[in-house]
This record gives sequence, C-alpha cells and structure tokens, in this order.
Amino acid sequence: MSARPFDCLIVGAGPAGLTAALYLARFRRNVMLVDAGQSRAELIPTTHNYPGFPQGISGIDLLRRLREQMSQYPVLSRKGRVEGLSRGTCFTARIGSNSVSATTVLLATGVVDRQHKLAAPADLRNGTLAGQIRWCPICDGYEVLDRNVGLIGTTASAPGHALFLRTYTSRVTLMLAADEAPLPPAKLACLQAADIKILEQAPVRIELAKSHKVAIHFAGKVQSTFDTIYPMLGSQPQSGLATDMGARCDELGELIVDEHQQTSVPGLYAAGDLVRALNQMSVGMAHAAIAATAIHNRLAHNPR
Ligand SMILES: Cc1cc2nc3c(=O)[nH]c(=O)nc-3n(C[C@H](O)[C@H](O)[C@H](O)COP(=O)(O)OP(=O)(O)OC[C@H]3O[C@@H](n4cnc5c(N)ncnc54)[C@H](O)[C@@H]3O)c2cc1C
Repeated sequence: MSARPFDCLIVGAGPAGLTAALYLARFRRNVMLVDAGQSRAELIPTTHNYPGFPQGISGIDLLRRLREQMSQYPVLSRKGRVEGLSRGTCFTARIGSNSVSATTVLLATGVVDRQHKLAAPADLRNGTLAGQIRWCPICDGYEVLDRNVGLIGTTASAPGHALFLRTYTSRVTLMLAADEAPLPPAKLACLQAADIKILEQAPVRIELAKSHKVAIHFAGKVQSTFDTIYPMLGSQPQSGLATDMGARCDELGELIVDEHQQTSVPGLYAAGDLVRALNQMSVGMAHAAIAATAIHNRLAHNPR
C-alpha cells in the first residue's frame, strides 16, 4: 500500500487505538490505522463510569466522537484485519493481499468475551444492548443496585465475581457453567456467609423474557428469572500477532509490557484490554497516551 514505511501502524480502532492515533497524529507522525470493526465498546448501552459524561454515554456514541476527533488530522484509516506481522529492518503487516511497512507497531486489538452457547448470538447481543445481560461488574454493577442478579461462571472465577456483586445487591445467585468442577468447601462457606444463593444445576438455556427480565432454564423444565444476568466465562486476548513474534504474555494470553507500553519485542507496543491490566476504557486510553508518546520520542532521532 505504501513504499515509505509508516512511522506507526496501529492495529485496532477501539478506545485505545483511536486515542493512540489522535496522539500520534498530533505529534505529526505518519500513521496508519487498521481495524476489523468489532470493538467491545460498541456493546456498551450507556457507560456511567467513563469520566466527563455526567449523564453517561453509549459506546457507539463515544467511538463516533473519538473517530470525529481523529478525523481532524491526517490519519490513514482502513477497514481490514491484520493477519500476520513480521519484523526485519521495519515491521511488515499482512492485510489480505496487501502488505504495509511501519517503523513501529501499536497493537490495540482488545479481547473477545467467551460466548455462552446457551443463547443465540443475536439474543446475547440484544440482551447486552438492553442491559438485561451484562459482562463486567466493575463497569456496570452500580446499574443493578438491589436487583435480582444471576451469575453464570467458572469454578475458578465465579466466587470472586459473586462476592464483588454483593457490593451492589443482596440478591445474588451463582450458577456454575456445565462441566465445571464443584466449588471447594472453603469457597462454598465464604459464599454462604455472604448470603449468596447457589443453584446446583447448570443452566441449559438463557432466554430474554417479558418485562425486561432474563429466564435461565435448567434440565427438566425448571427455570429461574432474574432482572439481570452476568454470563462470565472470561475472555480471549487478541494477542496472537504479538505472541507469534515471541512477545511475552501471562498465563491468560494478556501481553506483558514495560512502563512505556512496549512489549518484549522492540518497537512493538500494546494498549488497551489485550495488555495485562484492568479492562476499562480509561485504562486503555491512558496506555495509548503513554505508548504514543514513547513511540514519538523513539522516532525523534528521525525528524520529519
Ligand atoms: C457490555 C460491555 C459493557 C462495558 N462497559 C464498560 C464501561 O461502562 N466502562 C468501561 O470503561 N469499559 C466498559 N467495557 C469495556 C470496554 O468496552 C473495553 O475496555 C474497551 O472497549 C477496550 O478497548 P480496546 O481499544 O482495548 O479494545 P476494543 O474496543 O475491543 O477494540 C479492539 C479493536 O481491534 C480490532 N481488531 C482485533 N484484532 C484485529 C486485527 N488482527 N486486525 C485489525 N483489527 C483488529 C477489533 O475488531 C476491535 O475493533 C464494557 C464492555 C462490554 C462488553
């Protein structure tokens, strides 16, 4: 696509990638942004913990504003998926039948929530946009104050999520997903002490019900109804482009970076959910500001 390498190729245009593009463009860097178009932020009905919007803002509106702000600067933005990344004198990215060269790369490719097979993807999406299905108690636990909340999770992480949800409501019910090992007695006791209800059966189906409720079906036609459910099976960091090049990651696949957001591959930076840190937009945008400044300073030896 270009003979001269870009100063930076940014992969991913969620809150982190768009913030990095804005900073680098304002540093007068030659930037290309490539995005496959599935930011997690698009699923946020209304965020109330993103600073500066006292009435809250939808994820789609926030992304639109970030894109509008970036578009005031000369960033080359393309739809597409980076399928491979390699490094010689500079980085080369493969996008379909094209290749792009860049002196540095910033990955902001996010994570993908592990989907339950208990509901059709369209129902999960519609329920999420309606606030009946939620994925992140840190993001929106405050929105379920005193509600009847169901949590479907794994043996390892569900107890911690359930206890966290007790910050907001005394009506928390925990259900383990199918094929999960039983909870160890110590965790069980801890949950019972916190008045968390535990249903022994694994759910077989999630259904969006009338009056903005969610029904969970179990084998044998039994069902429970909740105001909101959190189907939390963890998420998959989209870090393969980096790990294929030998970048270090933790046991979950989240990238390990230094204080300038550089991965263990020199010149390869990362920001946002795919980095080992709290998965929040404010955190990802802070990563992006730090990474962009470090990239600009690194390139300062090659003035325009
Ligand atoms: C329902 C819901 C509610 C939430 N509520 C809040 C909230 O209230 N407050 C809050 O702070 N956070 C909230 N979050 C979390 C927030 O959405 C994420 O923290 C944020 O979107 C992460 O930004 P990111 O830029 O790292 O990744 P993302 O926004 O996920 O963007 C990553 C982008 O990279 C693209 N991509 C991936 N791989 C490639 C590739 N190989 N080539 C090209 N493009 C690629 C993807 O398609 C995507 O567009 C919520 C999340 C969900 C699901």
